Amino acid sequence: MKEKGLLLVISGPSGAGKGTICKALLDNNEFWLSVSATTRQPREGEIDSKNYFFITKDEFKQRIEKDDFLEYAEVYGNYYGTPKSNVLKVLESGKDVILEIDIQGALKVKEAFREGIFIFILPPSMEELKQRIIRRGSETPESLMTRFKSAYKEINYVSKYSYAVVNDTVEEAVKKIESIVVAERCRVDRIKDTILNSKEESIHEQLYD
Ligand code: 5GP
Repeated sequence: MKEKGLLLVISGPSGAGKGTICKALLDNNEFWLSVSATTRQPREGEIDSKNYFFITKDEFKQRIEKDDFLEYAEVYGNYYGTPKSNVLKVLESGKDVILEIDIQGALKVKEAFREGIFIFILPPSMEELKQRIIRRGSETPESLMTRFKSAYKEINYVSKYSYAVVNDTVEEAVKKIESIVVAERCRVDRIKDTILNSKEESIHEQLYD
């Protein structure tokens, strides 16, 4: 029986460095990054279908009606959603999928997809989080304050996740996530459908043949 891919949900507050970590993970590994749909305007340098599928609010609502999203959430006044069918197809094909999404979205995915691996990215400190949001430079002073305040509250959600990774350096954070993936692949409850219900001889066959 072909094993399904793992669903890695990488989430955490704005400015914690999820995006940079995901890019670095993709450079070193064979993960498939899900491209989200959003109603927000593209930032300079962002490419449609690569960074996001930039769509209108009407299109977004139609897609909600059609049950096209695995999850969606309103983040800072814009909608963001994970297109469902591609994610499921890629997982079915045995490839590991990364979702880089906000906390509300991650908790929705957790309800529907308990076998996902839920990783919370923490900034090294609150001061560093603030500096990162400022350095991003794409925010007005008001939206910067909104992002910082909500990031402050969001840190509390770490308790709902299975793993917390502090983003001191991207290199270290990536190493930790790669180790989590290795450990998750070895979990008996992941492979129990294949081996645990089998007879003893058959377990040997499945593991070694
Ligand atoms: P940004 O506007 O900075 O690209 O993203 C804002 C927030 O939305 C980030 O926390 C990002 O992880 C989150 N986000 C991006 N795509 C999705 C998605 O498909 N679903 C949800 N729930 N959040 C998303």
